[in-house]
Amino acid sequence: DRLVTGEVDRDEARIEASLRPDRLGEYIGQPAMKERLGIYLESARGRHEALDHVLIFGPPGLGKTTLAHVIAHEMDVNVRQTSGPVLERAGDLAALLTNLEPGDVLFVDEIHRLSPVVEEVLYPAMEDYRIDIIIGEGPAARSIQLDLPRFTLVGATTRAGLLTSPLRDRFGIVERLEFYGPDELAEIVVRSAGILGIEADQEGALEIARRSRGTPRIANRLLRRVRDFAQVRADGRIIEAVAAEALEMMQVDARGFDAMDRRLLKKLVEDFGGGPVGVESLAAALSEERGTIEDVIEPYLIQEGYLMRTARGRMATAATWKHFGLNPPDQPED
Ligand code: ADP
Repeated sequence: DRLVTGEVDRDEARIEASLRPDRLGEYIGQPAMKERLGIYLESARGRHEALDHVLIFGPPGLGKTTLAHVIAHEMDVNVRQTSGPVLERAGDLAALLTNLEPGDVLFVDEIHRLSPVVEEVLYPAMEDYRIDIIIGEGPAARSIQLDLPRFTLVGATTRAGLLTSPLRDRFGIVERLEFYGPDELAEIVVRSAGILGIEADQEGALEIARRSRGTPRIANRLLRRVRDFAQVRADGRIIEAVAAEALEMMQVDARGFDAMDRRLLKKLVEDFGGGPVGVESLAAALSEERGTIEDVIEPYLIQEGYLMRTARGRMATAATWKHFGLNPPDQPED
């Protein structure tokens, strides 16, 4: 079971919603992004206009959905939520758009997975707040134009590079979310523990934070699993030693790498001699989709200095070899 997977089941979705901050001020971390967004929000509110369309990109679990809700809340409007793969036909999107109230936020998750026909509908909607609908078929078909209220499209994607450029160009605000530092994640853990009625001290929260792969979703998930452990094996309180033991048992290592991360790094050093190896070969060797490797697994490993993307393929770093207690091939044993 992958603690880091982007997949969220229904139960978890409910818990996540309960942990979601509503206000920009409660949104932890991402200081530069928050400062910019705060200004855009205030100025749009001052002009009594809808906020410009916003594109948010970043790996799963970093707070894209949360941010869409924060934006709606700060603008005091409704948010409608959908996702790229769900919108199969042009009519699906048209139905959503024509039901928006002035100023509303339409949140489209995985916006890079919109089909081309649906994307075509989105262009005039974003630019001129209108859609063209075709009525009838064959020679009798005609197109009518519908005006839409001004609205804010908030699109989320794991990578900005996955979007077509006409779509990307229609966003006035483009923000990228960064992995969170341990102190920020500890703050998130303490906040979530408060909401869920879990007792966790600062050191316990920090231990969870350090092993959360820079990702709030994982921090919140580990918090609940450590809570289970604390209730069964200790007195229910999450202190450092309890957190460390619980996370050890769950095979989340001290660097925050989970089983999937280690599998990739191990393959890279053991089967490919540390690389360079093409992402396709790596994907085949791991029986994983290339997209999952690129968008979900690699970004954190790269940021932590355990993986390099080079023109010739993926390469392990000295830190990778060391992590497995091995010497890099070009360095003599010591
Ligand atoms: P994404 O849409 O990027 O996959 P979500 O917005 O669903 O991520 O966030 C996952 C979980 O992490 C949610 O429960 C959310 O409340 C929490 N979270 C994310 N970012 C923050 C943050 N900056 N401050 C507090 N909690 C956060």
